[in-house]
Amino acid sequence: MSGLWAPRLMIEKRYIRSIKKMMQQFAELTKGRADPQEILDAWKEYAESERFRKAAEDIAMKMVTGLFQDGQRTWRAAARENGQGREFYEALQQELSGQVGAVYYDLIYQNSRLIRTLPDDLAKQVTRYVAIEQQKGKRAMEIAEDIRRMFPEKTRARAELIARTEVSKASTALTQSRCEMMDLRWYVWRTSEDQRVRDSHDLMEDVLIRWDDPPSPEALNREKSYGRYHAGNTFNCRCYPEPLIELSSISWPHKVYYQNRIQTMTLAQFKRIA
Ligand SMILES: [Zn+2]
Repeated sequence: MSGLWAPRLMIEKRYIRSIKKMMQQFAELTKGRADPQEILDAWKEYAESERFRKAAEDIAMKMVTGLFQDGQRTWRAAARENGQGREFYEALQQELSGQVGAVYYDLIYQNSRLIRTLPDDLAKQVTRYVAIEQQKGKRAMEIAEDIRRMFPEKTRARAELIARTEVSKASTALTQSRCEMMDLRWYVWRTSEDQRVRDSHDLMEDVLIRWDDPPSPEALNREKSYGRYHAGNTFNCRCYPEPLIELSSISWPHKVYYQNRIQTMTLAQFKRIA
């Protein structure tokens, strides 16, 4: 089952590509404009347009829908493995009209809002840059040329951070709402297998977590706490929750996060608190 619950990297890559393509419209607007202020005005006008709002919404919808459908396939596969096919299947059929549907629409709204902040962030950076360079006596035409040159680099980093963080968060939100629907109260914290896993998250690998009791991985690792959160729910995190469907699907004794610490419990001990 390893990796079955991981959000698909492909969805993240596609999201980055779409955001960059959306921002390409802003790069186009710098062309043929020799005055930085003219560029900023043109950006502002486009950023406030209906067309841009629609483009952002479309991109967010595609990303969330991709995760949603991918999750459905995962749940069906998991249900088959656990002999709960029919029960899960029926619940999945009715998702969009229920609580999972509400989470789905909310994720589209949140993501489209977030990517719509990109032009504004960019405009702020450029405004600062223009002020500094003007003070140094650089000519407007040269500054406009700098803006054109800086554009790809400035949007790339932001697009990547947003995509990486938001795909994980959206995936966790969908898994959580499906767990609630199926009355599954625990999950196993899984780290992604790439080298960027931070120490505090490494500590959480394979630990059982209850949905209503998120840990602070940093505090558990004796670092400064960022607050409590679930797998995948913080910036640049590719961890993900793997729902605990059958107690027999994991080995016992097992690590459990309980009463603010990670403990090793036997199946009998776990059953008393689960
Ligand atoms: Zn992580």
